Amino acid sequence: MLSAGLLGLSVIFVLMMLLAAALLLALAAHRRKLRAVAATKELTESKALADERRKAELRYRALLEAAPDAIVIVGANGIIELANAQTEKLFGYVRTELLGQSVDGLVPKTFRERHDVHRHGFFQAPKVREMGKDLDLYGLRKDGTEFPVEISLSPLETETGFLVLAAIRDGTERRRSAELLKEKVEELKRSNDELQQFAYIASHDLQEPLRMVASYTQLLAKRYKGQLDSDADEFIAFAVDGCDRMKGMIRDLLEYSRAGTKGRPLHEIAGEEALNRALANLRSAIEESSAFVTHDSLPTITTDDTQLVQVFQNLVGNAIKYRGAAAPRIHVSAARNGSDEWVFSVGDNGQGIEPRYFERIFILFQRLHGRHQSSGTGIGLAICKKIVEQHGGRIWVESQLEKGSTFYFALPDKEAK
Ligand code: ADP
Repeated sequence: MLSAGLLGLSVIFVLMMLLAAALLLALAAHRRKLRAVAATKELTESKALADERRKAELRYRALLEAAPDAIVIVGANGIIELANAQTEKLFGYVRTELLGQSVDGLVPKTFRERHDVHRHGFFQAPKVREMGKDLDLYGLRKDGTEFPVEISLSPLETETGFLVLAAIRDGTERRRSAELLKEKVEELKRSNDELQQFAYIASHDLQEPLRMVASYTQLLAKRYKGQLDSDADEFIAFAVDGCDRMKGMIRDLLEYSRAGTKGRPLHEIAGEEALNRALANLRSAIEESSAFVTHDSLPTITTDDTQLVQVFQNLVGNAIKYRGAAAPRIHVSAARNGSDEWVFSVGDNGQGIEPRYFERIFILFQRLHGRHQSSGTGIGLAICKKIVEQHGGRIWVESQLEKGSTFYFALPDKEAK
């Protein structure tokens, strides 16, 4: 009985041992499986990461290739680590000739030392820098030719330290157009000066022979009036009249060429004082026409005081000269336009001007009134325009026929700057 019980126990024991061993084996197999799964997961993950990285790199390379500028990435030692297609095009190298080489190969010999200093300076304080627009920078092509470049630099922080990304643009076109513009401005200035000089010399030197013609025709008129036939008297009168007109025009031309000469000292002048000086010069015309001149409060501005008086005098003088049937009523005022300009106005109740002449009246010797209607040569408004524009301003007119005109001129407020 006992031995039968013992036998039963030992069978159970052996069975349990077998079960335990089977369990351990299953556990080990499960662990192995788990490890294998983890390893596969890790592998998949790192593959996905690598994929992502590769895609990002492709994107970034495509971007570099598509960039309109030549892009070169250089290390602190000056070695080229990357160059895009534009770099090949701009410098005439194939990429393999550039990678791993010193960037000095793209810089003309005379600039290399300076370039080294710049590069070291950049790596000491790496920040985005745009250069080349004002600097005289040059690139060197494989064929040895040099060309102007504009370069902007950006630092690139990597695991192994800073790199510099240089975007390089061919500056030939830009430099050429800047030079062309400079040349044109100088040419224009020269021809302007010459014209000014010419107008002055011509009008000044024409005065002398004209004076002679005028005095002899006057002498003819005086001495032979009535002694020749009536036609002769008339012809001599025409000649005298022509001489007088020419004298007037030459005098005005001289005045015009002198008006607004730059470099004259500027003074602070109260607008009211300038207007009063102009009105004093026009006193007899004002009295004769019974003109009534009023004004608002006018600002004090810094300008050429004599010329401001001249502008007021021409505009008020015209308002009287081109009056309508009623006695002239003239009003002068000023208003601020924005922060840096005063707009003066001289309004009248005169004959008015048709809109199609609004521009023409400011041109030299352009008149709407014949000389039999009113005196003048058509120089007054041209002088006003020249003065105002030389002070950086503008002049214009608004008008209605038979109602009146208002002339405006805007002058920069030099104090406001
Ligand atoms: P001028 O008075 O010697 O003719 P301006 O240059 O001063 O020369 O004026 C040019 C022309 O503009 C004048 O001939 C005149 O026809 C017209 N004009 C100027 N000011 C006025 C005004 N206030 N009203 C009407 N017409 C004017």
